[in-house]
Amino acid sequence: MTEAPGVNFIQEAVREDLAAGRYTKVITRFPPEPNGYLHIGHAKAICIDFGIAEEFGGLCNLRFDDTNPTKEEQHYIDAIQDGVRWLGFDWGDRLYYASDYFAQMYEWAIQLIRDGKAYVDDQTADEIRENRGTLTEPGKPSPYRDRGVEENLDLFERMQAGEFPNGSRVLRARIDMASPNLNMRDPVMYRILAVPHHRTGDRWKIYPMYDWAHGLEDSIERVSHSLCSIEFQDHRPLYDWFLEQLGIFHPRQIEFARLELEHTVLSKRKLIQLVSGNYVGGWDDPRLPTLAGLRRRGYTPASIRNFCDRIGVSKAHSVVEFALLEHCLRDDLNKTAPRTMAVMRPLKLVLTNYPEGKVEELEADVNPEDPSAGRRKIPFSRELWIEQDDFREDPPKKFYRLSPGREVRLKYAYYITCNEVVKDPGTGEVTELRCMYDPETRGGWVPGGRKVKGTSHWVSAAHAARAEFRLYDRLFTRPNPDEDGQFLSNLNPQSLEKISGFIEAGLAGAPAGARYQFERLGYFCVDPDSSPEAMAFNRSVSLKDTWARIESNLKL
Ligand code: ATP
Ligand code: MG
Repeated sequence: MTEAPGVNFIQEAVREDLAAGRYTKVITRFPPEPNGYLHIGHAKAICIDFGIAEEFGGLCNLRFDDTNPTKEEQHYIDAIQDGVRWLGFDWGDRLYYASDYFAQMYEWAIQLIRDGKAYVDDQTADEIRENRGTLTEPGKPSPYRDRGVEENLDLFERMQAGEFPNGSRVLRARIDMASPNLNMRDPVMYRILAVPHHRTGDRWKIYPMYDWAHGLEDSIERVSHSLCSIEFQDHRPLYDWFLEQLGIFHPRQIEFARLELEHTVLSKRKLIQLVSGNYVGGWDDPRLPTLAGLRRRGYTPASIRNFCDRIGVSKAHSVVEFALLEHCLRDDLNKTAPRTMAVMRPLKLVLTNYPEGKVEELEADVNPEDPSAGRRKIPFSRELWIEQDDFREDPPKKFYRLSPGREVRLKYAYYITCNEVVKDPGTGEVTELRCMYDPETRGGWVPGGRKVKGTSHWVSAAHAARAEFRLYDRLFTRPNPDEDGQFLSNLNPQSLEKISGFIEAGLAGAPAGARYQFERLGYFCVDPDSSPEAMAFNRSVSLKDTWARIESNLKL
């Protein structure tokens, strides 16, 4: 079978199913367990689930797979809904909970017991595990496997009535203890767990296992295409078995490869450790690959959807470079983010021949990529802040920026020449540059005139406001942080640097989430813990596009 361009194997399968009349309406679902925040791997699944439904004129449900009351919390449910909505998807009125189906599942369990296809097992969890066998050895049947139907019914009902302690008995499917697929060796369907559930309260003393519940949930919702990540492939025969024994609606499950990203972890179990161990500031720490973290960092929904589009859908395992995600963000912000100037590591610059008290309003495009964004005015005066990095007292070869006696351009303003370097007498640190400007070069260019190689950005000291800049680096030092099973010891100690600099005064009071390009420094967004008096900006991504370089190397 050859793939048509732009058509992946899931699209192909759905098209065939519709053409053959196997399903008449496409229903998909995104089924998170409410035990953590969504991450970029979930974004991939969400884009596929909602994308396929939309493409084939169908619907996509949001369903909370809330079968484990010990790990689930309401704030996760809220955060997950928020994340899906933020990404740009809408489940309409189809918000479902697995817990709403517990009564139906219970009835189906009774049906299987009556049919001799499920039994109550009194073995301990350890015994069950030991007797399960291995890939090369068959399992050992439980001594309780051949219990009579009546006894099983009685015990199962008493499990639910709360007569037995937690963990003392389970209900198992009676399938095949010698199956080469370990999932088919009489899997556990119910366990006793007398803990309250956030939605059903203390009604249930037993809770369904994921593998028993999941396929039933899809069937109840008449999901036509149950799209999930590859680890569920070996569970599919079990889901099929349950659906066939019960004779109920049979969705088609199709698996795709999980997203993995270099230099980060995409597993709720690991993310929870980072959050609860205070290795990061919370689920929305801008260094985390959670949707809440990426959002706070300044990622746009469009950039994440575009990323999910570009990584494509396949069954083959692959690890994606972070640079691709950053590339998608730059691509979006380049078109949409207003330009402004800010100085992260300030050095005072005084124009000795510029009149004191004079202020000029210079002009520039708000966004050169988008003329409709209009023009902006930038105040200019005698005292400025420039970047410490843009000056060297002893410039090495190929350093074309400012140095004593050297002429450079101040962006949108004038050519200037550095005449004097003022130092702190105690430390020898450069504290101020005294320069002359050339009034003939207004706008930062000389008609037909002399060339300068360096350009500096700047802000007018009299018009600037203090701001904090938060600069981020990879959260982990290794591309595969858990390669050695020690991801917590592979954290990058330099993943966050906070520095204090200056922004144009007009930015003070910009709302949380507002995104800008600080010229030459990168794309930044206003952090929620800002106030007009104390603004904080997260660097979303620098301007240097390492992905473009990777891509052009690939083409060579
Ligand atoms: P985690 O391993 O992070 O705990 P999970 O699979 O347990 O993830 P669920 O809440 O069960 O998390 O995920 C909901 C859906 O998202 C599932 O259908 C799962 O297949 C999909 N999903 C989870 N992680 C990824 C990933 N990295 N790439 C693609 N899909 C994913
Ligand atoms: Mg899961």
